[in-house]
Amino acid sequence: MSSELSGKTALVTGATSGIGKAIAVTLAGRGAKVVVSGRDEKRGEQVVAAIRDMGGQAVFVGSDLHDAATARSLAARATQAAGHIDILVNNAGIYPFGPTSQTTEDDFDDVFTLNVKAPYFLVAELAPEMAKRGDGAIINISTMVAEFGADGMSLYGSSKAALVLLTKSWAAEYGPSGVRVNAVSPGPTRTEGTAGMGDALDQLAAAGPAGRPGSVDEIAEAVAFLASDRSSFVHGALLPVDGGRIAV
Ligand code: NAP
Repeated sequence: MSSELSGKTALVTGATSGIGKAIAVTLAGRGAKVVVSGRDEKRGEQVVAAIRDMGGQAVFVGSDLHDAATARSLAARATQAAGHIDILVNNAGIYPFGPTSQTTEDDFDDVFTLNVKAPYFLVAELAPEMAKRGDGAIINISTMVAEFGADGMSLYGSSKAALVLLTKSWAAEYGPSGVRVNAVSPGPTRTEGTAGMGDALDQLAAAGPAGRPGSVDEIAEAVAFLASDRSSFVHGALLPVDGGRIAV
């Protein structure tokens, strides 16, 4: 346990699994009180129990994010549970791959609703309160395929590209009030969500200098940096944590 985030509160969406779970555990390990959110209450409570077992503070606030109202409701309930929110991590996301011609309107709406609309209205609710206090950190989880064209990833990549632009827009909008908004761009990372990809994840990762998939802890470490005062002069940045994939 370190104390660099002690006294801070954090809301992490998609914290019942994978990268979000590691972010929740890491932020709690640095002293933050973490609101663990997701749809699955049982897995959410397991993450809360793991955090409490290591001496940290956490609470589960469930949410199925499917429109602006559910995002606004999560913001209100998380604020009520934690007192206020200093750190928002927009991590919940889905990443179906496939040809553009076979994408249905429902697929399109599902991806843009969770990956773009939910972060948008969470920020709409929470950033003004952070700005009033003159302090806050928002970290959006993007992806390397928001940075280059990849066959089969038009829908997913474009949704995260929107989130990257929102990161810069919100840095302009809220940065002058003391709210830093940044993004982390993971490369292929082993999670519950990518478990079914098997060798395809290794093949995707092989193109980068590191030549391997990332771990959830490697992604969480970058988020912890952007959540802390160690990154006090970093606004509107996209931090690739992708084994160097978008650099080459
Ligand atoms: P994951 O293991 O599939 O976990 C996804 C999380 O999102 C779960 O906690 C899930 O909650 C939550 N979620 C899904 N639909 C939701 C909804 N409608 N409402 C609320 N929460 C919902 O995913 P991951 O691989 O850790 O990925 C996390 C983030 O990193 C995503 O934004 C993804 O795009 C990004 N990313 C991942 C990779 C990778 O290789 N893994 C690479 C680049 C970027 P429940 O389980 O409770 O339903």
